[in-house]
Parts: sequence; C-alpha cells; structure tokens
Amino acid sequence: MELIFATHNKGKLKEVQSLVPDTIKVISLDDLNMTTEIPETGHTLADNALIKARTIFELYKKPVIADDTGLDVEALNGAPGVRSARYAGEPSNAQNNMDLLLYTLQTTTNRAAHFKTIIAYIDSEGKEQLFEGRVDGNIIGEKRGNMGFGYDPIFVPEGSDKTFAEMSHEEKNSMSHRARALQAFSEFLKTNN
Ligand code: IMP
Repeated sequence: MELIFATHNKGKLKEVQSLVPDTIKVISLDDLNMTTEIPETGHTLADNALIKARTIFELYKKPVIADDTGLDVEALNGAPGVRSARYAGEPSNAQNNMDLLLYTLQTTTNRAAHFKTIIAYIDSEGKEQLFEGRVDGNIIGEKRGNMGFGYDPIFVPEGSDKTFAEMSHEEKNSMSHRARALQAFSEFLKTNN
C-alpha cells in the first residue's frame, strides 16, 4: 500500500516510514512534485490536519495522512496552541517565538505545558480518522541545547531534566507528541489491514 504524507519535511517523513508497517510505502509531497502551500486556516489542530489531508486526497485519491502540532501553555489558557508556528508573527521564526514566550512567562510560576499532535488519516475510500499524541512538561526560564527545532530548547518533558534540544533524535522520538500520534496511527493500521 502507498500512503501519502502531506509534508515537505524529510525528517518527519523518515520518522513516519520507520514507524509504519514495512508493507506501506510512504510518499511525500516532494515525491509528488507538489509545491503549492496548503493554507492552515483552521481554528484547531484537527481542522488544519483535516484541511491538509482532504486537499491531498481530492487531488490524488490515495490514502493520506497529515499532521498538525501545537504547544499549549497552561498559564496562557492553551496559547500559543494552533498558532505555535507564528506566535511572534510572520514569517515563522523559532527564536522570536521562544523569546516572546519566555518574556510572557517571566513572572509566571506555573510553567506547565504540553505538545499535542493530531494526525488526520483518510483511507482509500475517503473515510476520515484522527489520532492524537501528547507529551507533558514544563517551559524553563532560558534556552538550553541546539538539537531539534521550534520550541525544543525551552521544553523539558516530564520525567527528564533535559530539554528536547539536549536530546538525541532517538531519545526525543521515544517520547515525543508526534511519535506518540504516529504510534497510535501505526497500531490502527496494523489491526485494520
Ligand atoms: P507543525 O504542525 O509540525 O508544523 O508544527 C507547528 C509548530 O509547532 C512548529 O512551527 C513549531 O513551532 C512547533 N513544534 C511542532 N513540533 C515541535 C517539536 O517537536 N518541538 C518543538 N516545537 C515543535
């Protein structure tokens, strides 16, 4: 079976291919030469994941997954959430996003936060399904580490004393929101194929 993953991100593509059963060949938007940006205009992660998956399904009529991720900070009532990529404005800039979040939380003692990933899957018959992965942790007071991307240097997952940016890919993938959502999707495929 071929499965389209609605992404241009090679790191994510590798992660998906390593998690799904061997009988599934994962194809990226680059493999399809699809260069058009799909606008993420939804109000929730699920909306955005579904918008991306539906756009690709309409074009290619093949099984597709699309993901969307956000960082929910408890003291900010879930912000930046669905706006995580552009928290500090356009164009998306990880350093500016982290600087704004650290500044906003300067005097806040509740540092609890979680990453959440939603994966939308549309099968060959057009049936839609959502999968979720979440990791809880805390926003620290300064940036630490230079691995990973996005908010990784300021997020310490529960049970660790390292930020995601201080972990190897393997270590982060053993507990990350995205890996957990992919795991849920992969389990579903194994029992439904
Ligand atoms: P996307 O849906 O994967 O494009 O993620 C949206 C935004 O969430 C990214 O631009 C990052 O700011 C943030 N983000 C997503 N995944 C991660 C992660 O694993 N670590 C840190 N930040 C992330």
